[in-house]
Amino acid sequence: MKKIVIDEEFCKGCGLCAEACPKKLLSVGKKLNKQGYPLVEISDEDQDKCVSCALCARVCPDVAIRVYRQKKAQ
Ligand code: SF4
Ligand code: SF4
Repeated sequence: MKKIVIDEEFCKGCGLCAEACPKKLLSVGKKLNKQGYPLVEISDEDQDKCVSCALCARVCPDVAIRVYRQKKAQ
């Protein structure tokens, strides 16, 4: 399950989220969006390591990250 989703058209590749992530799961890659900004990336493997703390989403000036939490089994 993907815990964070990056809106590629909002991201401007500033890297603030990558700095904020306590687990260092995000990095600015080589892929560009339609406006020519490099996009921040997270691998599928690192999606599994994400703890859904939402610090990345909080620091993003462009509100480009949505964070999901896994529901606890009842
Ligand atoms: S903080 Fe937001 S705009 Fe900056 S790299 Fe991360 S997702 Fe993109
Ligand atoms: S939710 Fe937390 S652990 Fe997951 S990518 Fe964002 S800052 Fe990193």
